Amino acid sequence: MSESKVHNPFAEVNEKVARAGELLNLKPGVISALSSCEREVVISIPLRKNDDVEVLTGYRVQHSSARGPRKGGIRFHQDVDLNEVRALASLMTWKTALIDVPFGGAKGGVAVDATKLTAIEKEEIIRRWTRSLVHVLGHHRDIPAPDMGTDSKTMAWLMDEFHRLEGFQPACVTGKPVELFGAPGREEATGRGVARIAAATLEQNDQKVKGATVVIQGFGNVGKFAALGCEELGMTVIAISDVTGGVFNKKGLDIKSLLSHPTLADAQVTERVGSSEVLEIECDVLIPAALGGVINEENVERIKADFIIEGANQPITSAADRKLREAGAIIVPDILANSGGVMGSYFEWTQNIQEFSWPIEKFRSELDSRMEKAFSHTHKVSKKYKVDLRTAAFIVAVERVAKAFEMRGSLV
Ligand code: NAD
Repeated sequence: MSESKVHNPFAEVNEKVARAGELLNLKPGVISALSSCEREVVISIPLRKNDDVEVLTGYRVQHSSARGPRKGGIRFHQDVDLNEVRALASLMTWKTALIDVPFGGAKGGVAVDATKLTAIEKEEIIRRWTRSLVHVLGHHRDIPAPDMGTDSKTMAWLMDEFHRLEGFQPACVTGKPVELFGAPGREEATGRGVARIAAATLEQNDQKVKGATVVIQGFGNVGKFAALGCEELGMTVIAISDVTGGVFNKKGLDIKSLLSHPTLADAQVTERVGSSEVLEIECDVLIPAALGGVINEENVERIKADFIIEGANQPITSAADRKLREAGAIIVPDILANSGGVMGSYFEWTQNIQEFSWPIEKFRSELDSRMEKAFSHTHKVSKKYKVDLRTAAFIVAVERVAKAFEMRGSLV
């Protein structure tokens, strides 16, 4: 069984919602409504394989539309299941509320190993996923984006299929290629935000940003741009891993040269570490940016970082989170740390709707200042309630969603 299956991701998100709800004195019924998903669609996706058919399972879960159209990525990964998609959809509701963009939360996925698919198979899967779900999607209903195993190319196919069925509507999906209604800056936005949040956390704790050592698990969209962003801010990335393994150099890695290889297995380096062992390396800042549940009761005692910035969604189980905090680690939660992605998607969506495009400098400066605002507000709330950053982030988000939910009269 994979690490991500050992814990119950949706129950873990709802524990945090319940705790925030209690601190905010919300009624138990409201907490329970905020802990449920509005709509869950499960589909089968027949995929041609040689002269036969393999049937895959696909999902779209819409958690909340209280604050706006639902928003959330699509994941292609063999471990995707309904419970995980529910958890990720719910996290999107809290993330969009925390950073105060006019969206609700959703998530989608297909249980398939994306690394084993040909480009044609990937295109067939996303087109079938879109055709089966078109009735619940749309730029004012539910707007998908990339996640693990999907990218801007996948979003271009999704947009094209959507256009065939519903007509021109580029805001129906975000994370598209720049040449096809995408926004310059969106691709790097999640990783850039992670790096900015890492620097802000160090400063908040009177630690030097320049020279701070960083370790990253994951070298995909989030991990790559987080590494480049940390390097740009003067930090030293000493280790990084992908699914093929990890590389380590205590004097610092050259990220740009690592990027020239298809996987880290092809990189020319002297020291190698395992994909998961990388998490246990001594460093100032640890950025898990691959899978959920990777820091758990099995390895938590061996985690040595002072600061953990959650690039991935739910990389730390609840039990491990408690132990790390007791040991003095400062953890910046996923809904804050990786929110640059949905912030960037919001910029892309608004530009598509206005049929107007921003230069990348404007995109970056808006992103940086809004991330900074979300970070300092969460920090203030953590001081006010005397709680950790995760609890504070959920207090801010749950309060905003609960207000919208009650004002809409959804209780009658
Ligand atoms: P991706 O598919 O681009 O990259 C995933 C990376 O993780 C790859 O380098 C892969 O090799 C690596 N990986 C897979 N299994 C691994 C293992 N067992 N050990 C070490 N590395 C492993 O995905 P992504 O878009 O970078 O997403 C990563 C995480 O960030 C996910 O949890 C996702 O939900 C979250 N996230 C992504 C975005 C976004 O904009 N892409 C936004 C917010 C959160």
